[in-house]
Amino acid sequence: MNIILLGPPGAGKGTQAQRLVERHGMRQLSTGDMLRAAVKAGTPVGLRAKAVMERGELVSDEIVSALIGEELDSMGADTGAIFDGYPRTEAQAASLDGILSARGRTLDHVIELDVNEDALVERITGRFTCANCGKGYHDKFEQPRIPGTCDKCGSTEFKRRPDDNEETVRTRMAEYRAKTAPILPIYEARGIVSRVNGMAELDHVTAAIEKVLEG
Ligand code: AMP
Repeated sequence: MNIILLGPPGAGKGTQAQRLVERHGMRQLSTGDMLRAAVKAGTPVGLRAKAVMERGELVSDEIVSALIGEELDSMGADTGAIFDGYPRTEAQAASLDGILSARGRTLDHVIELDVNEDALVERITGRFTCANCGKGYHDKFEQPRIPGTCDKCGSTEFKRRPDDNEETVRTRMAEYRAKTAPILPIYEARGIVSRVNGMAELDHVTAAIEKVLEG
């Protein structure tokens, strides 16, 4: 199974992808996570991407498509892929078709998380993750059960993304509207798009996604 989670920043793609990984042993392929790791490690890709990401603009199509290809090659052929934050442009959507077919994979579902954009700034500016295992939390919507301690791994270190500030979020939304939303019709024409209400409670969103995967 190969699926794309599509939606603006803060729609819940990463959270839902993590849940699918836990339940189904699929792999989350998040170009945002890959780029942040590259920035942290100071690789040539990271050095090129850092300032672009801080502004909330899109990194070049070649860079992200190369990252996706490498990641798929590191996976077992039977492991399902959840694309989170990729593709983000029409060029990337075209690249993904080639990347998948070269590996004998096909795209099964594109799940669009439908959200009210007004709520997204609050979602994004309140979110943080465990610095050790990456589990996501939120100041208002999902605090760790024991304050200051990760539910999943027990770490007491957390981090926030530098681009999760209001000004950068606005640019990221504009990029989504201008460049990413237009790729939906490509997949609609193939009849593989399902729309899920991303404003519902996390468990309900997960259940709605599971239903799509079963159907
Ligand atoms: P994300 O974690 O998906 O919100 O991505 C964070 C940032 O990484 C974005 O604002 C972009 O600067 C960059 N990025 C992530 N994925 C892509 C992509 N598929 N294409 C271009 N830039 C990306």
